[in-house]
This record gives sequence, structure tokens and C-alpha cells, in this order.
Amino acid sequence: MKIQFCGATDEVTGSMTLLEIDGRCGLIDCGLYQGDAGTAEKNFLPIPFDPRVLESVVVTHAHLDHSGKLPYLVKKGFKGAIFCTPETYELVKIILSDSASLNESKDDALYNEEDVKNTIKLIRTVKWEQPFDFLGETAKLFPAGHILGASSLLVEGDKTIVFSGDLGRNNDLLIPPPPPCPATDVVVMESTYGDRVRKGDAINDMMTFLTKVRKGNTVGIIASFALARGQTLITLIAEIFKVHPELKVPLYFDSPMMKEVNAVYKKHSEITNLPWEMFFALEHADSVDYPREWETLKRKTGPFIVISSSGMVTGGRIFRSLSNWQNDPEAILFLVGYQGENTPGRALLQGERMIKDNEGNDIIWQGEIFSSEAFSSHADQPELLTWAKSSGAKRIFLIHGEKHSKESLKSKLGLEVTKDILIPIMNEIYHL
Ligand SMILES: [Zn+2]
Repeated sequence: MKIQFCGATDEVTGSMTLLEIDGRCGLIDCGLYQGDAGTAEKNFLPIPFDPRVLESVVVTHAHLDHSGKLPYLVKKGFKGAIFCTPETYELVKIILSDSASLNESKDDALYNEEDVKNTIKLIRTVKWEQPFDFLGETAKLFPAGHILGASSLLVEGDKTIVFSGDLGRNNDLLIPPPPPCPATDVVVMESTYGDRVRKGDAINDMMTFLTKVRKGNTVGIIASFALARGQTLITLIAEIFKVHPELKVPLYFDSPMMKEVNAVYKKHSEITNLPWEMFFALEHADSVDYPREWETLKRKTGPFIVISSSGMVTGGRIFRSLSNWQNDPEAILFLVGYQGENTPGRALLQGERMIKDNEGNDIIWQGEIFSSEAFSSHADQPELLTWAKSSGAKRIFLIHGEKHSKESLKSKLGLEVTKDILIPIMNEIYHL
């Protein structure tokens, strides 16, 4: 058994791990790098294996940094099976098609709609706990919390190995916590929040933001991912409005993809934490669909809220909101959750006020910036430790984290789980 780390070794995007068992090769996740131009450039690095010899790919969840490079793999000749949960399948269709449409306008597009269609055809859904054949061994997916359909993968070869995918938290508003990790020899785990104990309370932080918008009669802009975060925000705001009608303000969301994802979440509400009636909020929030609706909205005076993507201000319609209200000193930008290194979101959080939009135009934000860590859908350090401990693993590989997160988690794991903890570098190979 051989493992090669082909992505997410130095950051929290670009997940891709190659597993070889008796000469048969498969991939766990096939994600895009996301972030500033330097990070995105990594998407054009050659893949260190021939996609034509790959037998199958397991996709742990639909986030673009875990699924976004699949169509490129298919374009380069991959013809095997792609395994994921039924919920991930529905979300991946939306995510990849959006990614292709953003890509297609570029000269150096990685793939197009056609490649996405060919990718979708290769997907075979497997439910959690349903055994399937992966490289001649029995494998199964089990819940990882995090977002709808997200999974960890267990492969039972000579050695058992678990790939965590992205792990969710214990008190996520929408998604139940990940169950304990099954007993295994080896774990490959994410470490996004490996150095942090999450502060704050999502409900309190949202109440503070809503009060600011309501009392200040101002415009509140929330930068949010279209997938998972958007649905959490809309349902939470609806819940707060129900209990505190005095805080009620118009709520718009400006993201076509968010609208599609809302429908998938509503359909699968039985595997979330919320009663199904809360999902009506997803239908009732006002979506900004047509140019004339945006023309009206951009002239509107507060109080109201616009939720727009992307969550780390790296692209999407958030730029048109920021550009439109940049000179309003009363406007409030709410950054929710993790802001990756070298992203405009991180820069704004650290006090920078000038960022560039997708076309290179300056945006100088004059208003307030409010932030909360409480909305992250990633397990924090104590939660990662508890999950890793339950595995009883003798060896742990740490990926999908910034350097200090991995180092910090490594020292804690070393005390509580095992001394054999490795932080692989890009394309490094280990024999298990
Ligand atoms: Zn994720």
C-alpha cells in the first residue's frame, strides 16, 4: 500500500491524495486550489500521475477544493468510477457546472461544460456505511458532519486507513456532528482549525449584526459561501426573526448557485439538525435573479441585508455589493467563518481596506467590518483531537491546514494519540 500527497499539503485547498494498492491506483478527492493568483496558479501544475491509469476516485464532499478538479481529470483521460454519497452527487452537479461557467470565459480554462457532463456520468452514489469495492478492497463512507452529504472514507486493506475529508463541528446549526472515527491503523486528516479553539457563538454574533443593521438603518452585507454557509445563515436569520420580530429587516441573497443549493438542502432536510419547516425560509428569502432586481436593490436604502458569495471574497457577486456600497461609512460587511491565507477576506479582516475585484478594479471599503469565527463548518482543535483519539490510529498524516495549524495539532496529537505523526510535503510518497 502506497500513498502520495498530491494536494492540500501547504494550505487548505486543492485536496488530492493518491492511494495505490497492489498496483491499482485510486484518488481520494480531486479539488481545486482557491485563493489569490499565486495559489490558483497551482491548478496548472502537472498532475504527478497518469489520469488514464486511475481506477476510481472517492469524493468526500462537494466543496470545490475537494471536487473542483474532477472535470480536468476526465478531460485528461480518466474513465473510471467516481464514488460519493447521493447528497454529494446532487451538490457536485451544481458546483462543477458553476465552476465550468466561471472557467469557460478564461483563456486558460481548465475545463468546460462538456467535461463536467462527462464527469457527472462517471459518478456512482454510495450511501453512508454501504460497502463498495475500492482498488480491490472493501471501503465505506461514513458521516463527517461539515456539510450536507460530507463523508470520511474507510479503506480496509492489509492496513486499515481512514481519510477524514473535512470534519464538521459538534454544534453546527444545520449538520449533525461527525460520529467517532472507526478503529483504524492509519488516519489522513484535515487540520484547518488545528491550532484554534473556536470562539464566539453564532446566534449571539448574528444577533449583534442584525441589531447593528436594524438600529443603524443601514446596509448589511454578508460574505458567504453559496454551499452550506448560505443555508445556515438564511435559516438562522429566519429563526432569530421569529423570536425577535423587532429585528426583522428585508433579507436578499445574491447568488444563483445559493438558490440551487437551497433546494438540495430542503430536499434532504431529514439528515440535518433543523425541523423541515425551517427550510421554508430558504424558499422565502428574496433571491436577486434578474439585472432589474439588482438595479432596484442597489438604490435601496437600509435597513436590509444582502448575502452574497464568495465567503472569502475571492470571486462571485460579493464584489458588486462591496463596490456599490463601498463609500457608505454606515454599511457593515460581515465576514463569517474561516478566511484563508492570501484571500481578500483575510486582508479585510486584518485591517486592509483596499482590495481588487475580479476585473482588477479597486474597492476601498469605508464601512464597518464585523466578523465571527463561530460559523465555521470545520471542527476546531479539541474536536479534531477527540475524533482522532477515537480512531486509535498508530500513524497520522496531517494535511489540509496552514503550517502553524498542522504543527500545533501535531504537538497535541503527539501527547494524546500517537507519536507517529507526519506532515507530508507536496507529492511525497509513503509506503504503508
Ligand atoms: Zn469542505
